Amino acid sequence: MIVTMQSDASEAEADNVIALLRTNGYDLHLIRDAGPVAIGINGRPIGSDLPSVICDMPGVAHIHSGGRPYKLAARGVRPLGTTVQVGEVQFGGPLPAMIAGPCAVESREQTLRTADIVREAGGVMLRGGAFKPRSSPYSFQGMGEEGLQILAEARERTGLPFVTEVMEPEQVELVAAYADMLQIGSRNMMNVPLLRRAAATHKPIMLKRGFASTIEEWLLSAEYILAEGNDRVVLCERGIRSFDTATRFTLDLNAVPLIKQLTHLPIIVDPSHGTGLRELVAPMSLAAVAAGAHGLVLEVHDNPDEALCDGPQSITGETLAEIISRSTAISSLLSPTASLLAL
Ligand code: PEP
Ligand code: MN
Repeated sequence: MIVTMQSDASEAEADNVIALLRTNGYDLHLIRDAGPVAIGINGRPIGSDLPSVICDMPGVAHIHSGGRPYKLAARGVRPLGTTVQVGEVQFGGPLPAMIAGPCAVESREQTLRTADIVREAGGVMLRGGAFKPRSSPYSFQGMGEEGLQILAEARERTGLPFVTEVMEPEQVELVAAYADMLQIGSRNMMNVPLLRRAAATHKPIMLKRGFASTIEEWLLSAEYILAEGNDRVVLCERGIRSFDTATRFTLDLNAVPLIKQLTHLPIIVDPSHGTGLRELVAPMSLAAVAAGAHGLVLEVHDNPDEALCDGPQSITGETLAEIISRSTAISSLLSPTASLLAL
């Protein structure tokens, strides 16, 4: 069961509800970072009188007992949606947030050049891997902490915040000391210790969909983060495995409007990994924005053919600028009054 407080409820009103539930012996999960307070009640069934008592308490908006396995992530908890703020960048607001950068931080020069390209093209946030989850142990594995320092320098130079992947629970504090947003990658979507430790930083988290995970499994992974009290979660659709090897993965754009029905969390799309082919990145970016995505993550390189990682799906600065300007035009057609899907 979930109790959602009104958006203008006071801390004291929320504390009264929490105290009543704790006095009755319930184990609670609180989410209060990015919107009205929601109180998740774990474990044993709620006595028959308690829901109506809580409903009448000052500041309480509603009580849900929904049938889905994820609770705090369910749309009904925040029907108006959660907005996740990273510096000045907003996920879940009216404009799609454009994140771009190299697959991997390869050197200081390459990263700073690419960061300049991203800023000039109109990007609002940088991406770049310092710890890389490569399929082969013989491929470039990233620059580690030096890569984080380079990303911090790129942020200093451009004013753009950055997101970067954290692969292991033991790395979380190190990565969080540098990054504005933590990325949990596709291969780690179900790594529960990593989800919990990343959540505990209260940093914003980009949770990529496991490439063989269902929507429900993905939302249950988000639920782990919310259940730790961190609701600054942005979901990222990045393509799933299908029978077809013509593209690297199959970008599941069904996920965008579906996720908006199922959860209050913002949803962004990664057409770079979702296609694996740079010629497909622009059209699928525009399709994602048209489907209502709250943002895009794009791999950009100053010399894509020489990239140490994911060159075939990396685009140039010119293509990025084109995607951003066309996306802005598309999103202006999707104002809430223009489309029911633009939740
Ligand atoms: C990435 O974005 O750097 C990445 C490795 O993506 P994914 O986890 O989606 O494969
Ligand atoms: Mn990549």
